[in-house]
Amino acid sequence: MTFSSLRLSTALQKALQEKGFKKPTPIQEKVIPLVLEGKDVLAQAQTGSGKSASFVLPLLQLWSQNRDNAKKGKIKVLVLTPTRELTLQVAAVFQEFTKYLDKQPQIVSLIGGQSIGEQLYNIQQGCDILVATSGRFLDVLKKKQMNLSHLNYLVLDEADKMLNLDFTQELDLVLESLPAKRQNLLFSATYPPKMLNLVSKIMKNPLHVTIEQAPTVENINQRVIEVNSENRGPLLRHLLQEYKWNLVLVFMANKRATDNIAEKFRKYGIKAASFNADLEQDVRNNTLQAFKETKINVLFATDIAARGLDIDNIDCIINYDLPRSPADYIHRIGRTARAGKFGEAISFINHEVQEHFKLIEKRSSIKLLRESIPGFELSGEAPKKIKGPAPTKGKGKSKKDKLRAEKEGKE
Ligand code: AMP
Repeated sequence: MTFSSLRLSTALQKALQEKGFKKPTPIQEKVIPLVLEGKDVLAQAQTGSGKSASFVLPLLQLWSQNRDNAKKGKIKVLVLTPTRELTLQVAAVFQEFTKYLDKQPQIVSLIGGQSIGEQLYNIQQGCDILVATSGRFLDVLKKKQMNLSHLNYLVLDEADKMLNLDFTQELDLVLESLPAKRQNLLFSATYPPKMLNLVSKIMKNPLHVTIEQAPTVENINQRVIEVNSENRGPLLRHLLQEYKWNLVLVFMANKRATDNIAEKFRKYGIKAASFNADLEQDVRNNTLQAFKETKINVLFATDIAARGLDIDNIDCIINYDLPRSPADYIHRIGRTARAGKFGEAISFINHEVQEHFKLIEKRSSIKLLRESIPGFELSGEAPKKIKGPAPTKGKGKSKKDKLRAEKEGKE
């Protein structure tokens, strides 16, 4: 299969060639023709699968073909995403592929952390394609100064992540502001039951597209190393020295910890930075850019970086702290081995999180050998399993009870 057999215009093919995309990925093969035929599509797709181009390319083609000069600069395409990074990334993909179109669409991105007034002004100056985080889009919508009556295409990207942001409650407000006749595309990595409700509000009888497997996970060498909590930092430095990775993304549970450890690593002469939601948007953008350009080699991040980040060539993902859910595990490790490349993912575990990691393994259908690195061996004893009646001390659930409840799917 080639891009030309997908009937993409020569202008788009030229841009694809320039980017070095030789053939469509499986999701692109399936989604592009359906979008060009004007169908509503519900696609199960992970980041790394090439899903952005699967909607960007056909939408640019449709926009070019159906351009109506009388409605120049009116919003025709709306893409909603859950995070600022994904918004900027999707807007950049649109921008890249417009290069050889005979008319350039105006692309505007709306994200939090910038003045609403300025963003509204940009839209009013002429906007054909609007890419926005769902939160900021709602803020701007409530100002009632945005004309969406010419909209033809609605895309929800990483819709499962939006569910967690209580987006469903405000979805009605969004849908009320859009013309009823429009083409809808929804992309999501997972389909929890709540999603069906959201889907039924947006589209009727969409075509379902699934790609059999998360295409990238099989290219990831997944490892687990047993180590005491306090030895994780020294072990990581040891691994960095041993493997000489260029780009390492380290996931941690808490924002403050990412700042502290990055500072500590810098003192050891390692080019490290932190990435978390407390940092100003400008700092976040600059940090990501520096990481992409390998001016930073080790990025300590919270789960804000687990989804949607499009950085090529990350050599290794470290789970310094384990993710809470098995789904997050897959999202995190999916930041490496993108678009057919190979990568490594290493999880650090100690006695306390053994059970939790077993659960992650079970849900992800993997079973990994516990490794031990000389000089950093796990010491101490596993906490004893308490049998019998539930402990009565204190009102809240113990850590173990929570874990058990989680295991049984009650939390
Ligand atoms: P996405 O899943 O949209 O975030 O894309 C993941 C990565 O794959 C991005 O870096 C894209 O530039 C790259 N990519 C997307 N489509 C192709 C393709 N057909 N050939 C090669 N790389 C691609």
